[in-house]
Amino acid sequence: MPTYCRYLMSPWHLRPLLAVALVLLPLCFASLTAHAQEAAPTDATTVASAERVHEPVPVPQDDERTMQRYRAGNVLWFGTQLMGLGLPLLFLFTGWSARIRDVATRWGKKWFFIVVFYFVLLSLAMAIFELPWAFYTEYIREHAYGLSNQTLTKWITDTAISLTIGLFIGALIIWIPYLLLKKSPKRWWLYTGMLILPFLILQVFITPIWIAPLFNDFGPMNDKALEAKILALAERSGIEGARVFEVAKSEDTKAVNAYVTGFGDTKRIVLWDTAIEKLAEDELLFVMGHEMGHFVMNHVVRFIAIAFFVTFASLYLIHRLSGALIRRYGTRWGFTELSDVASLPLIMVMMGAFTLIVMPLIYGVTRYHEHEADRFGLELTHLNHAAATGFVTLQKENLANPDPGWVYMFFRSSHPSIAQRIRFFNSYRPWESGEALKYEHLFSSPETP
Ligand SMILES: [Zn+2]
Repeated sequence: MPTYCRYLMSPWHLRPLLAVALVLLPLCFASLTAHAQEAAPTDATTVASAERVHEPVPVPQDDERTMQRYRAGNVLWFGTQLMGLGLPLLFLFTGWSARIRDVATRWGKKWFFIVVFYFVLLSLAMAIFELPWAFYTEYIREHAYGLSNQTLTKWITDTAISLTIGLFIGALIIWIPYLLLKKSPKRWWLYTGMLILPFLILQVFITPIWIAPLFNDFGPMNDKALEAKILALAERSGIEGARVFEVAKSEDTKAVNAYVTGFGDTKRIVLWDTAIEKLAEDELLFVMGHEMGHFVMNHVVRFIAIAFFVTFASLYLIHRLSGALIRRYGTRWGFTELSDVASLPLIMVMMGAFTLIVMPLIYGVTRYHEHEADRFGLELTHLNHAAATGFVTLQKENLANPDPGWVYMFFRSSHPSIAQRIRFFNSYRPWESGEALKYEHLFSSPETP
């Protein structure tokens, strides 16, 4: 539920990958879909007691610390956006990008190696600027608020692994759009956009299945009774043959997460151990119901479709606008064609600006999906009270502002606010008045387990 785009949206070390693939957006969506982050702890083993089940759960009040984190977080977000656009501009206007290309040309000699060397050098140079910022936002700040368990060694190792993966995958594919630019200056955006589709699909499935296990241990679930209940819910949702994994994530974070992903043999239900630790059983079962809703309602596929469309649009805009920009500033930047690899920061900055503009629209869609997954989870489990208490503890644990204003929601929020969700959990009970359920047709049996 909360923070979706966690892995790829802000973390700087995957930026090379993003830049390269010309798929800043799709990659973000891929992670969006892969990591619907879930919610909510409490030792409220009492929640199930029958008389409390109908009691509305009050929306938590914010406190000073929460609001301080919220305000500082907005400033940091703004800083991150500025840096995302400012850093590529810096490399353009100082001529560093052109100089890096010159060095790559001396080392690489052949076109292919020039492109790859340029990409590696640019990524490393940018990483130098981004490292202190990342260290502050991901490590220092999270520890200062008591939200992280990660050791410094683990942060460094994870960062190094991410950067290496980004460089490796980037180096493997960066030459493709540049080759297309060279061979087909008029149609490159169309071909690149089409090539991104399979990449996007692969990314959506590869990240949770093969990349995530590089960072944490994916083991079988320890609590077999709970596993059985989760599998029963899955079966009722029409998800068959999924394996349940417990991820040893508590070494990195206190955040709670769960998701359902994969297809065929790789179909899996994944829970971070933090979720099992902090959530009462009913709260966890609601969260699983919500995640199964995403899976069954094909939110992933819808995302791929949106991402694909948005990528096309952004590539086309780059195609249309870059010529005029290069004519105007090309002398300062040190290149005269978009097919010159030194143009990569220009592509990054244009993609970044386009992302900023379209993100509010996309968040509107994701908020709708989240709301519908909540509805699915309630209809599947009828665990309204547990759903709400889960969010109360989530709010406390994550120091999340329960009810941010519309500006925050519009620009930054992929999920409805905690207040909105709790109000919905308190009120949505169509099964009690005999009204039709919206998603009943998706369930394999009418009975709630
Ligand atoms: Zn969700």
